[in-house]
Amino acid sequence: MEVQQVLHMNGGNGETSYACNSKLQKLVITKAKPVVIGSISDLYTINLPRCLRVADLGCSSGPNTLEVIIEIIDAIDETCHQLKLTTPEFQVFLNDLPSNDFNNIFKTLPAFYEQLKKEKGDIVFRLREAMGVQQIFHMNWGNGETSYACNSILQKLVITKTKPVVIGSILDFYTKNLPPCLRVADLGCSSGPNTLLVTTEIIEAIDETCHQLNRNTPEFQVFLNDLPSNDLNAIFKTLPDFCEQLKKEKGEKFGPCSITGLPGSFYGRLFPSNSIDFFHSSNSVHWLSQVPSMVGNRIENNKGNIYLARTSPPSVVKAYLEQFQKDFSLFLSLRAKEITPGGRMVLTLVRRRSEDPFGKESFLWELLSDSLNDLVSKGLIEEDKVDSFNLPYYIPSRKELEDIICAEGSFYLDQFEILDVSWDASDDDNDNKECMFHRFITAQKVAKCIKSCDRVVAHLSLWGCCNGCSIQ
Ligand code: SAH
Repeated sequence: MEVQQVLHMNGGNGETSYACNSKLQKLVITKAKPVVIGSISDLYTINLPRCLRVADLGCSSGPNTLEVIIEIIDAIDETCHQLKLTTPEFQVFLNDLPSNDFNNIFKTLPAFYEQLKKEKGDIVFRLREAMGVQQIFHMNWGNGETSYACNSILQKLVITKTKPVVIGSILDFYTKNLPPCLRVADLGCSSGPNTLLVTTEIIEAIDETCHQLNRNTPEFQVFLNDLPSNDLNAIFKTLPDFCEQLKKEKGEKFGPCSITGLPGSFYGRLFPSNSIDFFHSSNSVHWLSQVPSMVGNRIENNKGNIYLARTSPPSVVKAYLEQFQKDFSLFLSLRAKEITPGGRMVLTLVRRRSEDPFGKESFLWELLSDSLNDLVSKGLIEEDKVDSFNLPYYIPSRKELEDIICAEGSFYLDQFEILDVSWDASDDDNDNKECMFHRFITAQKVAKCIKSCDRVVAHLSLWGCCNGCSIQ
C-alpha cells in the first residue's frame, strides 16, 4: 500500500490529535518566519503581481495550518502600506494527503476570513459575507440511507441531460482560445457520486477534441466548491483513484490535472480576478444566501408554511423574490470578476413554469408544510417552530431570471433551455422505460431525496447558459 493511502496526522481535536500535539512544529514555523517573510517580500516587491499565489505543502490540520499564511498576508499587507500600494489578491492552496482532515480546516475558514476582514478591511481579497445559511446548511454526509450520496439520482439525471450544453459550451471556448491550462470551477459540487461527474465529462470531451485536432491536451485545474460544512474529506479520498483511472485511460501524456476543494459560499468572492475559464453549477443556485429577512423578522407573516404557498401574504412573496434578485445579481457580479475574457458559465436550476408565484413546482413544500402542521395538531412539534421555519430557497420563473441577468449586465444569455425531469427521476430508470408512475415508490424516492438535505432538497428544470464577458 502506498504511503499516501495510510499516512495522515490524527484528525479532530482529541488528546492524541495532531491539532493538540504540534507545539514543536509551531516553534519551527516561528523560528523560520524571518526566512519565509524575507523571501516572499523580496519576491513580491520585485514582481508586484496582481495576485499572489501561495501553496503550503503538507499543511496538516491543526493550529499551525494557517500560521504561515497569516504571517505572509500580514507581511505583504504591511509592505503594501509602507509602499502605498494596493494589497494584491491572494490565492492560497493548502496541500496534504487526501486522508488529511480537511473538513476540520475548512470549518475554521469563515471565522478566519471574518478576522482578516476586521483587521485589514476591504483590502483583503476574500470578502465573504457572514451568512446564516452557510453555517448550517449542507447535504447529509456519508453513504447511509438518507445521505445525499445515495439520494441524488434526480440531480444526476439533470447533469446527464445538460451534458450536451456543458460540452458544447466548453469546447467552443477551448477551440477558440486554446489555453495551455483550462481552469474550471464547479459551484455547489456537494459530496457524492455526482461530484466528479461534470469534471469527467469535460476532461473526456477536451481529450477527444485534442486527439481529433492532433494537439496535446491542456493542463487542467479544477476547483470543487461547496459550503465549508460540506464533506470535502469524502471527495478528497476518492481523488487518488480518480486520477489513477484518468492516467490509465488517457496515458502518461495526459494532464497534469489538479483538483482542488474550495470551501466557501458562492455569494462571496471565491477566485482571483480573471482566473476561471468555465463555471458550472447544477442544482445549487436556487439556494438563497439567507432566509428572506422580511419572513425572518415577521414570522407570523408566513404562518403554517415553509415556502411560498397560496396562503402566503404578498409581503412574503415580495421578500422571497427580492432576496433571489439580490443573491443572483450578486452571484453574477462576483463571477464576472473571476471569469477570464470570453469565459463561459452554465447554470442549471429549478424554474417555475408560470409567472404565478405559486407555481406547481412548490406543491411539494406545501405537502411538507401540511405534514408538519399535522404534527403540530397532534402536539408532536411546536407550532412556533413550523411558523418560524422558512426555506432559504427560491424557484424563479424564466422571466425573473432573464430580467436579473439583463439588469445586472455582466453576462449575456447565450442559450436558455428548459428540461423536464420527473421528481422521482423515473425518466432514467432502466427498469421503467415506460415511465410508469408508481405512487408509493415515487413517494418514497421523493421523500428520501428531501431527507438527504440537512435543511431540505434541490430540484431542477432549466439551465441558463451565459457567455461571459471580461469585467475587470
Ligand atoms: N451540484 C450537485 C449538488 C447539488 S445539491 C448536483 O447537481 O448533484 C446543492 C449543493 O449546493 C449543496 O451541496 C449545497 O451545500 C450547495 N450550496 C448551497 N448554497 C451554497 C452556497 N451559497 N455556496 C456554495 N455552495 C452552496
